Amino acid sequence: MIDSHLHLDDPKLRDNVKQIVADCAAQGVELLINNSCDYASMLAGVELAESYDCVFATIGMHPHDSKSFDGKFVETMNRLAAHPKVVAVGEIGLDYFYDLSDRQTQRDVFAAQIELADSYKLPLTLHVRDAYGDAWDVLRAQKKHLNSGVLWHCYSGSAEFARQAAREGHYFAFGGAVTFKNAHKEEVLEQIPIDRVLSETDSPYMSPEPLRGRVNTPLNLHLVVAKLASCYNVDVNAMEAQLKENTYRLFPKLNEHKLRQTV
Ligand SMILES: [Zn+2]
Repeated sequence: MIDSHLHLDDPKLRDNVKQIVADCAAQGVELLINNSCDYASMLAGVELAESYDCVFATIGMHPHDSKSFDGKFVETMNRLAAHPKVVAVGEIGLDYFYDLSDRQTQRDVFAAQIELADSYKLPLTLHVRDAYGDAWDVLRAQKKHLNSGVLWHCYSGSAEFARQAAREGHYFAFGGAVTFKNAHKEEVLEQIPIDRVLSETDSPYMSPEPLRGRVNTPLNLHLVVAKLASCYNVDVNAMEAQLKENTYRLFPKLNEHKLRQTV
């Protein structure tokens, strides 16, 4: 299993990373992709990726922190983008639910990071909340820079929007929220071909049922995978294999790393 989105550097997890990584290896969670939100988490993620073979990192500024996007941040992104264990630019996008940064700033910073990702041929991991229309507009305006794949992390949009994005070849990641009662994700998943779905935990957030409300860890990933298997009506092993294949396809640097390991 692969956890395509989590935050090991979060204060709730960072003191236990060594144990979490060991437990993951023992329980079949093979790879962890740590997502960047701001300057500190971007550096922490790359450091974790350098410390643990199974950890990979993204680089980028969360929409909440768009107001802190400055020359130093861009310079650091450029410095880290070619790092062998940096697999994507994320989590980037728009969040109009919390509105922690001005909306125009969020859109500008989102667009700038799409361009930067393209110059390093990195896929995008998107965080979008209550802003699907505007996010789509930014993506459309940046269409010539969308050459390496788009992942909607913790997808919470409509079935109709999923169909539209799936037609463009986008990917969708689901975590604990997919297990919540009243999640009604079945009609969304119906619009998403099985070769475009990824699993994640977003740890330490979004604990799946029946652990909702507790600190989440990648060890709970199996609950997400089981739910996806039942939605797609396939057995858990087939779902696991499919999720793995999808993740390696979207994040080619995972493959390059594996090939280097085997040389
Ligand atoms: Zn996240």
